[in-house]
Amino acid sequence: MDFRLTEEQKLIQETARKFVDGELVPHVRLWEEKGEIPRSFYAKMAELGFLGAPVPEKYGGAGMDYEWVLDGQKRFISNGSIADLIQVYAREPGTSRHEGLSLFMVPKDAPGFKVTHVETTTKLGLRASPTADLAFEHCRIPRENLVGKRGDGWTQAMRTLNSGRIGIAAGAVGVARAALEAAVKYVKQRKAFGRPIGDFQLVREMIAQSALEVDAARLLTLRAAQMRDLGLDNTLEVSMAKLFGAQMAQRVTDWAIQVHGGYGFSGDFDVERYYRDARILGLYEGTNEIQKLIIADHTLGPTTKK
Ligand SMILES: Cc1cc2nc3c(=O)[nH]c(=O)nc-3n(C[C@H](O)[C@H](O)[C@H](O)COP(=O)(O)OP(=O)(O)OC[C@H]3O[C@@H](n4cnc5c(N)ncnc54)[C@H](O)[C@@H]3O)c2cc1C
Repeated sequence: MDFRLTEEQKLIQETARKFVDGELVPHVRLWEEKGEIPRSFYAKMAELGFLGAPVPEKYGGAGMDYEWVLDGQKRFISNGSIADLIQVYAREPGTSRHEGLSLFMVPKDAPGFKVTHVETTTKLGLRASPTADLAFEHCRIPRENLVGKRGDGWTQAMRTLNSGRIGIAAGAVGVARAALEAAVKYVKQRKAFGRPIGDFQLVREMIAQSALEVDAARLLTLRAAQMRDLGLDNTLEVSMAKLFGAQMAQRVTDWAIQVHGGYGFSGDFDVERYYRDARILGLYEGTNEIQKLIIADHTLGPTTKK
């Protein structure tokens, strides 16, 4: 297997790094304090092609025939308060489990749609990203805002989660790599007993273990992504990449704090933010426990309880 990036992939990687170093890193502390990312940043991301799949214009919605009526609430929607369109899975009354789910695009100005609560800077991490609670009170949306076929929601959700989880696994590698780079820089500079602390074996062990784990998570992520490119069923591999990535990022960001000593705990260095931000990875898009259940089902077969 060839794990080297192609020239095109290298170019994308370099463009992303340059963009993040130039447009995000200098502002991230301010955005975290304010609890928002300026809209212009998303526009720049979109220009470079770094935002998710484009949504067809037809879902904009205004002035069309209304047909679907949605009722319910959903907690914890990332960027739910600033999105123009919300992707919603809704269940038809009287159905259960995998049946009767459909996917809809809800424009933010649809009658009956409300943002009921927004959390930003009081969260443990991801403070620049608003986490919103949404309510749908007899919310009416255009007939054509059903995405795909009625009743296909479960399959669509699983497909979306399978892609999203690769993104989370890649994010875990990203935050852990940032923590490792910060740790390496610091242990070369900081001196104790007349030597850089990177000379001490116990510190070297934390750096070595971090490098090992980041790479293992990266390889699991690449495997899951490659299987997706090949059109293979990658449910098991995606769950492994996400679970290990989430666990690894918590450990590596913790070691990055450890090698910084007291400075790691202070707000002076970015490692404390990496540590806080890593915590969400094992919670959203399916908790660590849910990934373990998927891995066990694939390895052991389903449980005997129906
Ligand atoms: C910052 C943030 C952003 C989010 N963004 C989004 C978003 O954009 N879109 C979205 O849809 N959701 C989003 N979420 C929601 C997130 O996906 C859920 O919070 C998460 O999936 C866990 O669900 P829960 O909070 O209901 O926990 P629960 O399901 O109540 O779980 C609580 C605990 O019980 C365990 N548990 C539950 N069921 C089982 C089981 N069968 N076996 C073993 N253990 C189990 C869980 O693993 C967990 O440890 C976000 C959450 C946060 C905090």
